[in-house]
This record gives sequence, structure tokens and C-alpha cells, in this order.
Amino acid sequence: MRRKLVIGNWKMNGSRDSNAALLSGIAAGVAAESAARQADCAVCAPAPYLAQCQAALQGSPVAWGAQDVSAYAAGAYTGEVAASMLADFGCRYVIVGHSERRAYHHESNELVAKKALAALAAGLTPVVCVGETLAEREAGQTNVVVCAQLQAVLDVLETSALGKIVLAYEPVWAIGTGKTATPAMAQEVHAQLRKQVATRDAAVAGGVQILYGGSMKPENAGELMAQPDIDGGLIGGAALKAADFLAIVHAAE
Ligand code: 13P
Repeated sequence: MRRKLVIGNWKMNGSRDSNAALLSGIAAGVAAESAARQADCAVCAPAPYLAQCQAALQGSPVAWGAQDVSAYAAGAYTGEVAASMLADFGCRYVIVGHSERRAYHHESNELVAKKALAALAAGLTPVVCVGETLAEREAGQTNVVVCAQLQAVLDVLETSALGKIVLAYEPVWAIGTGKTATPAMAQEVHAQLRKQVATRDAAVAGGVQILYGGSMKPENAGELMAQPDIDGGLIGGAALKAADFLAIVHAAE
């Protein structure tokens, strides 16, 4: 039985003041739930606020992480943040290959795979994002696109490392648009992704968590996460309000 996982991706939002309120609201809400929780949760904050997350969440059941990481371990890479630095601030997760980074920062499938490797080398769990654009879906290319995105990562990981990643299916057309994939549409892609991991190792595929992201809200989270291959959510806009984020974590339980 796979545990559910709900991760908030704050994107480039927040301030010390607004984060303090959000973090304490989330920590209090999660701590108030039963110890027999069936779902884990985390927030992925902008890099400058990771120390604030660590201070606010250490000792709570809420984990924290980053939204991107360098493919390199250290050195002359101005502006980059190494996986070891994220680990230094207690991060458990790091998102790699978010569609906004693929689109605006021209990240290739191969670069995303290197970032996943760098994260694993520092003991972090990479949350590897895949997803098609509207044009690709309308052209019937969804499976081709997400398979190529996932395959680049499968190609560089040892089978033992494969069990340490989290996957996230985020259809680009559903991100920040209020348009959600129907549970059946999302399930179809999740099942396909799991099948692809199974071509490497069936047991690992059975254990890998695959999150859905794209306009997941308290109102639709339950039916999406009830699908057999949807193991949680990667939440953008709704992760910026403690009550909404907590309602989604609750729906995962
Ligand atoms: P929204 O939930 O705002 O659609 O964003 C989803 C997302 O991109 C999470 O990584």
C-alpha cells in the first residue's frame, strides 16, 4: 500500500511575514491530526526561505524542500544552488523538471535527469515532473511526451535509486488555469507512467509514488486521489492558503 503524499509548491510567492503565518497554520493543522495519518506532506519554498521553513517545521510532521537544484555538486556556477546545500537546510524533497523550468529556462529531459541524480547523491528525494502541453495533448502526443520525459530519468538511474524518486504528472494546460484533468484522464497517464517504470522493475514500480498536479483544490482532490495510481498531489495556488492546503492533505487520508 503506497502512502499518499501532498506537496505544496509555493513557486515564486511569499515573504518572511506571510510564510510565518502559512507555516504555523500548516504545522498546527497537521499536528492536530491523528498519529495514524495515512498521508505525508511537505512544502517546497523559494530557496531564500528554506532556513525559515527549517526553523518553523523542524520536529513537526511537515517536511520541506526546494523547487529546483543544480545538476552540479559545487563550483563556479553563479546563481545555482547545490543539492548538498539544500540538504544542509534539512530539505527532504526537491522538485526537478517543473514545466515552468522546462518552458522558461529551457531545461531539457537530459538536464532534468542530471538534476534528479544530483539530488539523490545528496540524499534528497527528487520530485520529477512530467506533463504535456495542450497542443501536444490535442495532437495525441501525451504518452509520447511524458514517456520521453520519464525515460531520460530512467536511463540514468540505477534500479536501486529508482525506488527513491517521486514522480509528478502535471499537464501543462491544467497548471494555474483552473482546468483540471478529469480523474479518468489523469489515472490513464499515471497508469502508463507506472507501467513504464515496471519495464525496469515491477516491484519498484508498485512502490513509486506518482502525484497529480494542475489546479488541484479541496473540491477535486478527493476524487483525483481516489484513483488507483494517483498517490497524492503537487499543489500550486491552493498551497498558499493553510486552510486549503490542509483540506487537500485531509482528503489524502
Ligand atoms: P496549480 O495548483 O496552481 O495549478 O499549480 C500546479 C503546479 O504547477 C504545482 O507544481
